[in-house]
Amino acid sequence: MALIRIESGDWLKNASIVGLNKVLNHKKKIGEKIELDGSYIEFDSAILENFEEAYFQTLFVEYGKRGSWHKLVSYSDNLKNLIKDDIVIEDIEKLNKIIEDIKKIITSNSYKSAYLLLEDGGWIEGKEKTLNKLKVKKKDNPLDFKDNMEVQINLSLEIINWFNKAEVKRVILAKNVMYDVIQPFWNNVSILLKTNNKSNMYELYKNDFINPVSDYIESDREKYKNACFTCDNKIKKLSKPEAFDLTWLVKTGVDMARKSSHFWNMNGDAYICPVCNLLYSCLPLGFKMFNNKGIFINSNQSLEKLIAANTTTLDYENNNFEALENLSYYNVLNSMGNLSVDNMDKEFDNIQVVKIDGNNGGRPYSFNILSPRIMRVLYLNRKRLESLIKLRVNITDKYRINLYNEVITRIHDGKNLFDLISKLLYMYLDDRKFNNIRAINNIFVINNYYLGGTRRGMKLDDISKFQSYGNELKNEYARKKAESKLSGITYRLANAIKTKDSGKFMDTIISAYMYIGKGIPKEISLALADADRLQNVGYAFIIGLQGEIINKKKEGDVSNE
Ligand SMILES: [Zn+2]
Repeated sequence: MALIRIESGDWLKNASIVGLNKVLNHKKKIGEKIELDGSYIEFDSAILENFEEAYFQTLFVEYGKRGSWHKLVSYSDNLKNLIKDDIVIEDIEKLNKIIEDIKKIITSNSYKSAYLLLEDGGWIEGKEKTLNKLKVKKKDNPLDFKDNMEVQINLSLEIINWFNKAEVKRVILAKNVMYDVIQPFWNNVSILLKTNNKSNMYELYKNDFINPVSDYIESDREKYKNACFTCDNKIKKLSKPEAFDLTWLVKTGVDMARKSSHFWNMNGDAYICPVCNLLYSCLPLGFKMFNNKGIFINSNQSLEKLIAANTTTLDYENNNFEALENLSYYNVLNSMGNLSVDNMDKEFDNIQVVKIDGNNGGRPYSFNILSPRIMRVLYLNRKRLESLIKLRVNITDKYRINLYNEVITRIHDGKNLFDLISKLLYMYLDDRKFNNIRAINNIFVINNYYLGGTRRGMKLDDISKFQSYGNELKNEYARKKAESKLSGITYRLANAIKTKDSGKFMDTIISAYMYIGKGIPKEISLALADADRLQNVGYAFIIGLQGEIINKKKEGDVSNE
């Protein structure tokens, strides 16, 4: 047995290391060590025994619940609930829908090819023909269908039980993740080669990726003349199983295209060693995938941080790719730990985002660099952002937004957050349809950091000052037992901001201060002379008027740029 060390490198290598690390940690036994040290990962080759099992298991842990196997077996409870005496038409329709789904799933090509790998695969073949939807009409008496329903429910449950058998699950889930997760990254190779359709994926993976490594590390490599294209390991021959080309990875983008035209065809060196071949097989696990799309964030600081940046730390339901992408940015911020202001620029320099779109055959990968200025804004506000992650707002009965997503999407698109603040404030004023003034305040503060570079942003000191004025006014109204007037005032102020009418804003302020018999704070009059500042000063005042003031000590003030 030997130690295998893999150095970090370009995004392709780094994403693969993240994936490899997941698999190794999944199967690691007590006493087995995986060392991460800044720029490399190192482990004993003994850990590669049964790696194929761990490889698929890791994929199941991350993606099993999204696959069709999971959907199929989770019908069990719905079916059992349909066994009852008081049947209504809707129950029969529900059952029909489930039957339709089960039939569709168990007759798909990938399932059919999986049956051939199973010892008792014959049992399931043709079973869909015994499953039949019930032909029910609106005028029928649902109770007449009770017996028939039970027959179909029991048949369905019998099928589900079969899919729950350990070996069936092991093979079918593997098929699920092969097509749902691995396919966008690989090109007709090994388990995804059409002609290998009927071979056991675990054995194929072992033969194609693991065995060459085992043979390789036991051989005497010193005398070999060729070198691996990516890691400089010595290789014996430029053909399988001593060396591999990279054509089995789908178009990895500009870099690889350039490499292939300049070096590939003319230069025999463009071959990789068995270790790199195994490494790259873990590429799909380095990305976070949702419906054929994935994201990997290549932060070049250290492998430890790279892994943390690509590991979801929050239990949060991602219901679309955009949400997954936005959460990835939070992971990056969270993986940074506590940075000093001086360190930030270095840490946020050159963070590369790699996305894959499995639906885009021509150019599946896209790349961009995160803006250090924006990362800095988000980093300084990471606690505020975290407080927004689980906040959902019902805009209408059917339309819900997630506040974290709304904020991140706007900022990455180069837009400020005033429209969001305004919308939430109106919902707050409208019978507390959104009842979280603190969240509005958090968004407002983030917006000020975001505007920081553009003159219009306020420092925390100023925000807190204008919020205090609003809050003092509120207290005076409370003293006069006139709190009920505050919502009308707030409304008028919000309208004045929305229409950018500082005259109207000022009129409302003047009459409010007249009511409490006090003079208007000079700063407010001065600030409103500058039309650009109306939104900031105005919202700060309103938020204070509604009782919320930022706690500067707790929040920590960091000067804006
Ligand atoms: Zn190599």
